[in-house]
Amino acid sequence: MSSPADLLLHNAKVITLDESQPRVEMVAIKGNRILNVGREEDVESFKGARTRVVACQGKTIVPGFNDAHCHPIGLAAGLLSVDCGPSSVRSIVELQAQIRQRAKQTPKGKWIRAVGYNEFYLAEKRHPNRWDLDKAAPHHPVKLSHRSGHACVLNSLALKLLGISEETPEPPDGIIERDLETGEPNGLLFEMNPHVEKLTPPLSEEEMERGIGLANEEIISRGITSLQDATWSDSLKRWQILRGLKEREKLVSRVSMMIGIDELEEFKQRGLSTGSGDSQLRLGGVKVILQTTTGSLNPPQEELDQLVSKAHKAGFQLALHVVEENTVEAAITALEYALSQIPKPDHRHRLEHCSVCPPHLVQRLKDIKAIVVTQPPFIYYSGERYLATMPQDDLRWLYPIGSLLSSGLRVAASSDSPVAGLNPLVGIYAAVTRAAETGQTLLPQEGISRLEALKMYTLEAAYASFEEGVKGCLTPGRLADLVVLSDDPTKVPPEEIKEIEVVMTIVDGKVVWQK
Ligand SMILES: [Zn+2]
Repeated sequence: MSSPADLLLHNAKVITLDESQPRVEMVAIKGNRILNVGREEDVESFKGARTRVVACQGKTIVPGFNDAHCHPIGLAAGLLSVDCGPSSVRSIVELQAQIRQRAKQTPKGKWIRAVGYNEFYLAEKRHPNRWDLDKAAPHHPVKLSHRSGHACVLNSLALKLLGISEETPEPPDGIIERDLETGEPNGLLFEMNPHVEKLTPPLSEEEMERGIGLANEEIISRGITSLQDATWSDSLKRWQILRGLKEREKLVSRVSMMIGIDELEEFKQRGLSTGSGDSQLRLGGVKVILQTTTGSLNPPQEELDQLVSKAHKAGFQLALHVVEENTVEAAITALEYALSQIPKPDHRHRLEHCSVCPPHLVQRLKDIKAIVVTQPPFIYYSGERYLATMPQDDLRWLYPIGSLLSSGLRVAASSDSPVAGLNPLVGIYAAVTRAAETGQTLLPQEGISRLEALKMYTLEAAYASFEEGVKGCLTPGRLADLVVLSDDPTKVPPEEIKEIEVVMTIVDGKVVWQK
C-alpha cells in the first residue's frame, strides 16, 4: 500500500512531459506535490479514506501553463479601462463612442484610461489625436494607450495637466508628435509611457483590488499556473504589492517578477537577486528595453554594454526586450561583451520577443546560449497586420521559432498580455500552424510540433526562470500544478487546438478553478 493521495485524478490522458513515462492515466497529489503518476490499475493503491477522487472521463491533463512574459498589473489595469482593442472598436468614431460612454459614468476631472487601440485596425488607418479624444471627453483627462505599450495619446486636458505644450523640448528617449507648422503637440506620444505614468495618479487601492480580481480569474481560467511578470517599471514597491496579493491569495498563479534596470541597486542593497523569494513569488531577471523609435539605438551600444555587464556581474539574469533586427543584434553584442568579461556557463540570459531574427543572429544566439522568449499569440492576433505592413526583409525572419529550435536554442512562450490575449492554447495553435486569425499563414515552414509548442509553455518557460527542477512536468516530487483540458492538443485536428477548453486548474495541489 502506497501512501494515500489527497487528490487523485484518473481516467485521464495525462501528458507528463517526463520522458521516463510520457503518457499515463492518473495523477496522485499529496499536499502541494505530485505524489505519483501511473496507469488506471494503480489508482486503488493511492486511495485513502480522505482522498478526493476526480474521474476525468477521458479528458487530457497537462502540466500547468507558464506564461513566460506578461504584465499582470497591466492586465488588471486594462480590464478596468475602456477597451479599444480590435475586437471592441473598428474606427475612431466607435472609439470616441466608448470613451464618451465612460465619461458619462465618471466624475468630471477624474482620469479616463482607454487601452488596446492599434491604428492598423481602425477604419481611418491613423492614430487618434488629442482633438479626437477632446470630442469624446472634454472635461476628463484621457490617456489612450496603444496596444504595443510603446505609444499613447493624451487629450488636451491630460496634456495640460502633464505640462506638455509647444514649449516642451523633445525628450531624449521619446517623441512628442507635433503639428509641423505650430509645433503644437497633437497628443500622440512615443516611448513616453514611463514619463506619463509617473505623472498620472495611480489606481486607487479599491480599483486595484477589483482589477486584480478580474485578472486573476482570467489567468487561472486559462490554465496559467505560473507567470513571469516582465514589466520595465517593476520595483521594490511592486515586489511588496505582489507579496501582499500572494499572501491574501488574490493572485493565485505563481509569479516570477523581473525588475527594471533602474531598480537594480535597490534590490542589490537588500541582498535580493534573481532566484530570491520562494515558489509562490520569486525574483526573475533584469529587464532592459532596447529601442530605435528616435532613429538611433537607445540605449547606445556602449552604454548598453555597460548596463548589461553590470547586471551580469551582480549575478542577475538579463531579460532584454528586443523587437527589430538591429536591437536583437545590439543585445547579442552586449551579452557577448559581458560574457567575455565574466564567463558564466549557466547564465540563462533571455531575449524577450526577438521578433526579427535572421540566421546569422540565430547562430550568434546559439553561441552564447541565450534563451528566446517568444509570443506565438502575436502571429494569431497580429498576423494580418504584419503581412500588410512589415517590410519583406523583416517579414522573412519574423518569429522563426522552428529555426530557433532546430539550431538547439531554448525557447519559452508567452502572451505579453495585455498586449495579446492570454490563452496558451491559441499560442500553441499559432506556433504549430503559423496561422493568423484571418487564416493567412506567416512562414509556415517555421511551424513546430505540438509537443514542442506545449513544452514552450511549460518546461521551457520554467527553464527560462531557473525553475525546471520544481515544475513544468508531471514528475513525482514536482509542484502539483496542472490543468485538465477538454481535449488532447497533440491529437485533435490542428484547427481545433485553439478551441480546447480548460476544465480545471490546479495550483499547489489545490483546485483553484473549475468550469
Ligand atoms: Zn512585454
